[in-house]
Amino acid sequence: MMLHPDRLFPSDPAQRDIARRLYAAVSNLPIVSPHGHTDPSWFAKDEAFPDPAALFVKPDHYAFRMLYSQGVPLESLGVPRADGGAVETDSRKIWRLLAQHWHLFRGTPTRMWLDHAFETVFGVTERLSPASADRIYDQIDACLQSPEFRPRALFKRFNIELLATTESPLDTLEHHRAIRESGWDGCVITAFRPDPVVDPEFEGFQANVETLGALAGENTTTWAGYLNALRNRRQYFKEVGGATSTDHGHPTAVTADLSTAEASALFDKALRGTVTAAEAELFRGQMLTEMAKMSLEDGLTMQIHPGSFRNHNPVVFERFGRDKGADIPTRTDYVRALKPLLDRVGNERDLTIILFTLDETSYARELAPLAGHYPALRVGPAWWFHDSPEGMRRYREMITETAGFYNTVGFNDDTRAFCSIPARHDVARRVDCAFLARLVAEHRLEEDEAAELAVDLTYNLVKKAYKL
Ligand SMILES: [Zn+2]
Repeated sequence: MMLHPDRLFPSDPAQRDIARRLYAAVSNLPIVSPHGHTDPSWFAKDEAFPDPAALFVKPDHYAFRMLYSQGVPLESLGVPRADGGAVETDSRKIWRLLAQHWHLFRGTPTRMWLDHAFETVFGVTERLSPASADRIYDQIDACLQSPEFRPRALFKRFNIELLATTESPLDTLEHHRAIRESGWDGCVITAFRPDPVVDPEFEGFQANVETLGALAGENTTTWAGYLNALRNRRQYFKEVGGATSTDHGHPTAVTADLSTAEASALFDKALRGTVTAAEAELFRGQMLTEMAKMSLEDGLTMQIHPGSFRNHNPVVFERFGRDKGADIPTRTDYVRALKPLLDRVGNERDLTIILFTLDETSYARELAPLAGHYPALRVGPAWWFHDSPEGMRRYREMITETAGFYNTVGFNDDTRAFCSIPARHDVARRVDCAFLARLVAEHRLEEDEAAELAVDLTYNLVKKAYKL
């Protein structure tokens, strides 16, 4: 066996015993996954995943960015090229490359997630290595060909109560519609991610806004028509895709609260493609405030995921497109950046805005104080580069003293890698129980309070924040 039952628990015996007791009460709770990037067509079509490389390597930017950093070309890992150029298609070869470089993942969460999936999903009990690569490939491949390993069966086996995907307003939600019409009882919902139509610097912005108008039956050459189209698509996402949230992946947390005349003039410029970088930033900021105002009307919880410098590597972007492991965190300001939005909606009790960060220095200095004051704000869980045991510990240590536990919202797996979902939620549950165990051992909490908190952090807070 690769997974130790006490993994991630404190090594101090007294704390470890408390952590074991807390974890025992939450380990089997259902998974609620309110934000992520799995493909809804998996659950609509319920086709077998093709092979181990297609499942674990080709779509996982955590996996291939590490190999790329050590000189392995993305082509050799089967990552599709934007120009349709040749890439490796032999899945066994791709798998062997992963095995050959397995040592690179020592000490990383990717290693924990993959080991967890190999063992708990596919029954693999030996470590991946060049010697075991073919055996493990054959074992996983054989599993994938049986009906118990189809997406819907795995969804049930993973004990997923709800899974949210993320779609652009230009998406027809055909897969979500198909899931509903199929009569399957798994709960897969969408989330509204308008970046392609609210960011003047997004590829194809002008054409995207035009398509938005066509889909919504609104004239999106005017500011009022554009806002109506967005309102219309939000409603569509709620009705057809079951959306309860929006998501915003902006480079910064900048917000603005312009007059209608100013916003309208800026929109015209964006449509003409003549905005400067500073004006594009201002426009995105205005749109965050517009989205918050719409959330007040339609009740969608708002998620802000700022601070990623996307597509940092132009060579990789040109050759392979977005989301290829070349996104790098930046320093992020919230206190000044969010003020226009908070001046407008910060005191609303019926609005939930969840703030995420890739800049851990903002936890104790900015995010916990903000969420510990404004009724509309919550702090989202440790995200992306910090979705790791150490990242989660730092998060609890830096957030709790000022924001408490109840201004947080449970865990998000935020993943494209379906089989890593149980692993990621298990890591979060274990790290939270370890943190709570320390508070109990230090006589800062009674154990019955810690037990209640463990359930809240695993299950109740996420359902409340996302209105599920
Ligand atoms: Zn995400």
